[in-house]
This record gives sequence, C-alpha cells and structure tokens, in this order.
Amino acid sequence: MVFGGVVVLGGVVVFAGVVEELLAELCCCACAALSTVCEPWLNVARVEPKDPEACLNDPTETFDTDPADALATDPATASEIDPTAIPLVWAGAAAAELETAGALDASGVAEPPLPPDPQPASSMLAANAASTASVRVMRARRKMYVLPMSTIIASDERRVVESVPHQLLIGGDWRGGEHGTLEVEDPATGELLVEVADASPADAVAALDAAVAAGPEWAARAPRERGEILRRAFETIVERADDLALLMTLEMGKPLAESRSEIIYAAEFLRWFSEEAVRIDGRYSVSPNGSGRLMTMRQPVGPCLLITPWNFPLAMGTRKVAPALAAGCSVVMKPAQQTPLSTLAFAQILEQSGLPKGVVNVVTSSDAGATTEPLLSDQRLRKLSFTGSTGVGRLLMSQASETLLRLSMELGGNAPFLVFDDADLDAAVEGAVLAKMRNGGEACTAANRFHVHESVAADFSERLARRLGAMKVGRGTEPEVELGPLIDAKQRDKVAELVGDALERGAKPLTGGKAVDGPGYFYEPTVLGGVEDGTRLLTEEIFGPVAPVISFSSEEEAIRAANATEYGLAAYMFTTNLKRAIRVAEALETGMIGLNQGIVSNAAAPFGGIKQSGFGREGGHEGISEYLETKYVAINMD
Ligand code: NAP
Repeated sequence: MVFGGVVVLGGVVVFAGVVEELLAELCCCACAALSTVCEPWLNVARVEPKDPEACLNDPTETFDTDPADALATDPATASEIDPTAIPLVWAGAAAAELETAGALDASGVAEPPLPPDPQPASSMLAANAASTASVRVMRARRKMYVLPMSTIIASDERRVVESVPHQLLIGGDWRGGEHGTLEVEDPATGELLVEVADASPADAVAALDAAVAAGPEWAARAPRERGEILRRAFETIVERADDLALLMTLEMGKPLAESRSEIIYAAEFLRWFSEEAVRIDGRYSVSPNGSGRLMTMRQPVGPCLLITPWNFPLAMGTRKVAPALAAGCSVVMKPAQQTPLSTLAFAQILEQSGLPKGVVNVVTSSDAGATTEPLLSDQRLRKLSFTGSTGVGRLLMSQASETLLRLSMELGGNAPFLVFDDADLDAAVEGAVLAKMRNGGEACTAANRFHVHESVAADFSERLARRLGAMKVGRGTEPEVELGPLIDAKQRDKVAELVGDALERGAKPLTGGKAVDGPGYFYEPTVLGGVEDGTRLLTEEIFGPVAPVISFSSEEEAIRAANATEYGLAAYMFTTNLKRAIRVAEALETGMIGLNQGIVSNAAAPFGGIKQSGFGREGGHEGISEYLETKYVAINMD
C-alpha cells in the first residue's frame, strides 16, 4: 500500500513517506516519527517504529532516498501531497506547543501548527527532480525538530552558484589563486557549497598593481560617466535581486526575504553614490587679508583596499565600492572567506556595467592576514576601509601605521535598546524584533541588551518572548522561515557560551536558550530575564538571536547603563516624550540612534560609530569624503 509521497519545499526535497514495505525495510524510527507528525495532514497510515526506545536513544538516525524513485513508484500520490504541509523545522514555539499539547507523548498523536498555503507539488518536483531527499528527524528531550540534512542543491540553487565566477578578478581577468581553492559552505547544512580561488600574497600584490595601473584613467573619467556606470550596476542588481538573494542565502544562511532586503539596501548605495559622483565640490574664497585667493579642491585618495565581513555579504561591499568609484578611486576588495560569492557576483555586474578593467579587483583568501599584509606596507596603497571586528580593526590599524595609511574603521557594536515607561509598547516590541532578529542578530547594529523601565519590563519581556518564540527556524530557502542558521559552528558555540554564562549567573530563559542539535548552525530565538550585572552578554557582542532584558528605574540610570560599554555604534530608544528623546539622544555615546524604530541603516545617512566601534562614515553626503583628499591652492593676487 502506498501511503506517502515526495514533498518539495523551496530548494529542498523532503521525502515524507514511501511504500510501507520500504519503510519497514528501512526500520527507521526517524521515518516513523515523521510519519506520525504528518499524519493529520497527509492522511497516511501511521507506522509504528519497530523499537521506539531506540529512536530516543539515537536521535540523529536518518534516512535518504531518491525522490525520482519515489515518483516512479507512484507519481500520482506524490502530486497529491500538499508539499508545504510538513514544516521542515519544528523549533521554538512550535516544538514547545507540541510538547505542551502532549503531542509527542507515548500515544504519538501530534497537534501541528496550521500549515501554510498549499503549493502544487508536481511543479516543484519538476524543478527539483534531480535532487536527493534527506530528512533528519530528531527527538531531543521530547521536542521534535525536522531539519534538512544533506546539501540538496536544487537546480535553481546550483544555477545561481554556478553563474558566478569562482576565480580572482585581477586587472579584468578572472584567474585562479596561487594557493588553489578555499571551501565555501552552506551554514544551514554545514556542507560544501562551492570552492573559490584562494589568493596568495603575490596575487594580492598583482591586484594592487592592477588597481594602481587603472587608477589615473578612472580618476580622470567624467564624474557623470562614473555615476552612470554605478547607476547601471544599481539597475542590474535590482533586476537580478531574486537570484542574488538566493546566492546570499546559500552562502550566509539568512532567510530569502532578508537577503532580498539586503540586496535592495546594497543597491541603494550604488544609486546614491551615482548621484553623489557629480556633486564633488570645492571652495573659493578671499584670504582674510585680501591679498590672496584660496581655492580648495577634492581629489580621489587613490588605490584602496576594502575588507568586508560575512554578515552583510553584498551591502558591506557596495557601501565601500560605490563611494570609492564615485570619487574616482580604484580598489582591491577582500570579502570574508565564508561569503565570497555575493562579492564575486557584484564584481561581475560592475564589469557588465562598463567598469574599465583593473578599477575593481577581487581577492578571495583563506588567510586574510598573510594576503593583505604586503598591501598594507605598500606605499602605493592610499586607503584601507575595513568593516569587521574591533580586534582585527586594532591589528590593521597598527599595521597601517607603518605607512600612515588613511583609514575608515567600521567595527563591532553593543547596542543598547531603551524602553521608557511612556513608550508605545506595541511599537517597542516590533522595534525590538527588528533590532534583535534582523540578520539573526548577526548585525553590528543589533540590539545587544534591552534596558526596560521596571514598570513595563515584565510586560515587554513576555511579549518579546512570545514573538521570538513563534519564529520559524530553518534553512533560509524554506518558505516562511524567519530565522536561519548562524554563520558557523564557532559563532554558534560563542552564543551558547554567552547564554551559558548568563544562565549560570541566574538568568531565566523566557523562550529558547539553547542551540538546535543537528546539521547546520541553528540557535533558538532566545529571551532571557533576570540578567545580572557583569554577565558577559551585556558587555560582549552577542551576534546571535539572544535578547537579555534588564530593568532600570530612572532616565539617568538608563543612560548610564547604555553608555557602560567601550563600543559606540548604535542605540535604540522608545519614548513618546519629545524632550526626553532629545535629552537621551544627546547623552548617548553612539554614532547612530534609532528613535522609536528598530533600524538605522539607510544609504542616504552617515553610518558609523565612535569609541571602539571605529571611525569614518559610510553612506550619506559624508560617505564619499572618506575617499577624497582635500587640496588647497594659495593664489597670489599682489
Ligand atoms: P572579522 O573576523 O574581523 O573579519 C572581517 C574581515 O576581515 C574578513 O574579511 C576577514 O577575513 C578579514 N580579516 C580577518 N583577520 C584579518 C587580518 N589579520 N588582516 C586582514 N584582514 C583580516 O569580522 P567578522 O567576524 O567577519 O564580522 C563580524 C564583525 O564585524 C562584528 O564584530 C561586527 O560588529 C562587525 N561589523 C561591523 C559593521 C560596522 O559597520 N560597524 C558592519 C558589519 C559587521 P576572513 O573572512 O578570511 O577571516
């Protein structure tokens, strides 16, 4: 008897059931558990695991099968199945609900959350027929998670990955790296996505050679022409937003909708600076004693090294490249090794937009320090713009001191999120979700700690916990997933360590509180109450979906707590009192403040920090100044 079928969700094919005989043969408790959960929607026969105890003892048992085989067995049945009926991941609230409802008790009856809108399985199957199905079903402390296990590169995913060059771009040539290749993995599965060229220090010097050679001609180009190339790149990125979003999700993990937002945000820098290119101005004045004239002009600084992190794989690049090119500089880009694909795609788009050879060069490398070191000591390099951790920023600053290199440093953050007693609490919770969960908390501007007035702290915490606990966690390509994986095991372990420290000091999880077992680097959306002073979560950058809530009793106390950090990038404040808003904004020691909103990023605004969050501004009218030198000519009129 056929009782199951093939289910396709986005790029991942999930095998929900096979012929009874095959299941029996597999003797897989994981299959049985999945079948049990799916039963209410799929109307399939329940298969009891042969040995339920074994299932609990080996929560990672898996099975694999080929959907093409399953289709061959019974294509009609496969096409009848609602493909979205099985959530790939049961996490946070969903799992908790199941547990609360006793859904995972010995009777094995599951009460699943409402399934999303059905989609035609057959069309999705057609697009993914070559994929391999694999599902891992885990039981952990009576909670159930269903995760995609193997890298299932569906045809669309493979197409976008292969459409991007995987080599270095040096002087207009795409070429291999002297150190072979480096691996890029899918953080949702931990499996290999693709390999890209691994540059040697000599490759990096060749890239600088190319930038130096191309610089003068580019600087001499009419500003309008430079702007128009940027404008074409903006349009191309917007046109290709869906593919670029998929590419970004594959390498970085964030949900597709968030990747798409980043693509548009990233493109906005190209549009903004295409307009700024024609507004590079100077000054003319009479000297105070009247005997001379003072003329100032602004000129490109020259070849730049641009080093970017993995958390916003495209926007961190366009935020540097667009003003640099608008100003007339040539560049060498060094993206993070975890996420080189978005940068490579961007470089290809710039080429296709008419950028002359050598103006933008890209080196991908598994050893950033060794690769960039010769450039930092090379007198021909005139500027380093770095976005990344404060630790690496400090190191680069000391290296750059040798040549007194001009610097922009966009470094780490520890953003306070202040909620006053007069705040609109609904708006504050929505702002908190955005400030904390955008990019899965892996943002330099992410709210790191929530300081809430004691009169509303309990209410705010509960509401925030409800919102975060209901978020769907899973591979970013899957429908309705709101939280993807963290970038790698190191990042997940760091988040777990920080939460562990807080729990040991008496903090209480209001939702979440642990990593999700299994493939990929998932961590539960977490809200912690009762967080003590001195807890590492309050002083270190979390870079994960964890929200510690602390209460305060007065405005002064809130300001003191907010400023009690060496960082100074962003802060958020929710209040309906205008005078308080201005008072607190003036007192906060940060470069940016979100007033009654949970996001500060905007291509038209100057983005940047103070204190150990760095210096320099990206975006706004200030952004292009980072790539311009001021020269003054004294004119003798005697
Ligand atoms: P990271 O470890 O500092 O790395 C950032 C970039 O620097 C990567 O391309 C990295 O290459 C490279 N790098 C590392 N060590 C280097 C060295 N010795 N010499 C030259 N380059 C080196 O930071 P991350 O973990 O990628 O990014 C997260 C950090 O960035 C967080 O602290 C976050 O707050 C910060 N950030 C700040 C902003 C902002 O605008 N202020 C924006 C986004 C992120 P590899 O990938 O090869 O290591």
